[in-house]
Amino acid sequence: MDILKNYIDGQWSASASKETIPVYNPADQNILAQVPSGSDTVKDVDRAVIKAQNAYKEWSKVPVMKRVQVLYQLKALLEEHKEELAVIITNESGKTKAESLGEIQRAIENVEVACGTPMLMAGDIIEDIARGIDEMMIRQPLGVAACITPFNFPGMIVFWFLPYAIATGNAFIVKPSEKVPMTMMKVFELIDALDLPKGLISLVHGGKESVDGLLEHPLVKSISFVGSTPVARYIYSKGTANGKRVQAQGGAKNPVVVLPDADKEMSSRIIADSVYGCAGQRCLAASTIITVGDEKGAFKESLYETVKQRTTGYGLNDVDMGPVITPESKARIEELIQKGVDEGANMLLDGRKAKIEGYEKGNFINPTILENVALDKELIKTEIFGPVMSLISMKNIEEALQFVNNGNYGNMACLFTTSGANARKFRNEADAGNIGINIGVAAPMAQFPFSGWKDSFFGDLHGQGKHAIEFFTQTKVVIERWPNIWSRKF
Ligand code: NAD
Repeated sequence: MDILKNYIDGQWSASASKETIPVYNPADQNILAQVPSGSDTVKDVDRAVIKAQNAYKEWSKVPVMKRVQVLYQLKALLEEHKEELAVIITNESGKTKAESLGEIQRAIENVEVACGTPMLMAGDIIEDIARGIDEMMIRQPLGVAACITPFNFPGMIVFWFLPYAIATGNAFIVKPSEKVPMTMMKVFELIDALDLPKGLISLVHGGKESVDGLLEHPLVKSISFVGSTPVARYIYSKGTANGKRVQAQGGAKNPVVVLPDADKEMSSRIIADSVYGCAGQRCLAASTIITVGDEKGAFKESLYETVKQRTTGYGLNDVDMGPVITPESKARIEELIQKGVDEGANMLLDGRKAKIEGYEKGNFINPTILENVALDKELIKTEIFGPVMSLISMKNIEEALQFVNNGNYGNMACLFTTSGANARKFRNEADAGNIGINIGVAAPMAQFPFSGWKDSFFGDLHGQGKHAIEFFTQTKVVIERWPNIWSRKF
């Protein structure tokens, strides 16, 4: 079985660590590869950082118009290898091929936006800010930047950061999730073909030890993290204590409110896609659905009928939903479901005991709906990260908004309605960084920041677009006096 290599100093090399852990296909539990792990991965991190620092010195002096030429090459390579990448994503993360292709598309869009860096990183100048004095603000790169990513988007999330970091003149190190390292192996095959200084972009494997290596290395100037809230909080506090710039995106628990005037069929379809897409393993997955004024249960009925039709199976087959990532994750989700039932929730659709022919060992759970879940219980408060919908009902939009704003997380809140006034109220008053109006997965496109709030984000500047350009640059203000030697007046 292959032991995955790191990509450091422009070449593939074996890890300094002899420890490994297996990478599984969640649809059948077949082992895909072994990934380096353990404390010796810190040596890999150290080597990658030193090489990156050298490459940064050269790269930061390359004109920005030249730097983005590499991104045009990268975009072309990603387009060319889209299908192959999608198959790898499906095999290691479990999501469907259509979802994997969508993920690569978002990665490409971030590369496209970062191609605008020559304009996006422009500074400001005021001539004669005082007599004979000019003042300007310029943006300079930080140095070595690193990102640490989660299992649920093995291809996309790195691209919320990498293209912006490189275009603004930094070196970049990727530490992918040890559960899904295969997609980055392919991406780095493509990166290997780019015209870059050796060591400018590196791939290091591992878990907590390699993360700590990055957090502790004095030459690492910034950390971009995406993952669960406890780890995001840890990364933020340790990274900032060590003097680094940190952006740390955490977990979520996303509420969706459906008003009585919403289009029933459209809302049901979009909400079902949001809850069950990627088997519920999305930080923008709808989790708690709040129906307002649905006393007769018409919306509930429509939702139930839509959800019932969804199919589960191996992501490369023609199915709507794949497995969850690990057997431990499946067991945890099923326990949460049982706990909800024990605490009085009514089981409308039970997705446990899913049997997929030919994939008996896979981590499958079918779509599950629980209704009348108690508001103070775990099912409502905890991120489930699985294909489970909690359905609750409320009297009016005020009550629903209060519920939305009581949650600890603030990644996304959505409203389904045909009323402009209610949509505007929700947009203004909901405490979440990404708002959807008749949208189920309010994922910002690459031009906009991925704006989590509350326990869903630690930091100031988010990933993507202009926020990323600001994150990967530091401002420098220069004030200049050039005496007029001809008139001698200054
Ligand atoms: P995770 O926090 O377990 O792991 C994320 C990364 O952190 C991995 O690379 C892992 O190796 C590393 N890591 C894990 N434990 C660590 C520790 N103790 N110390 C240092 N590093 C550690 O997250 P996951 O299970 O891979 O991903 C799912 C989570 O990510 C969910 O909570 C989901 O909501 C969140 N997520 C958030 C966003 C967002 O934009 N807010 C996007 C995608 C996923």
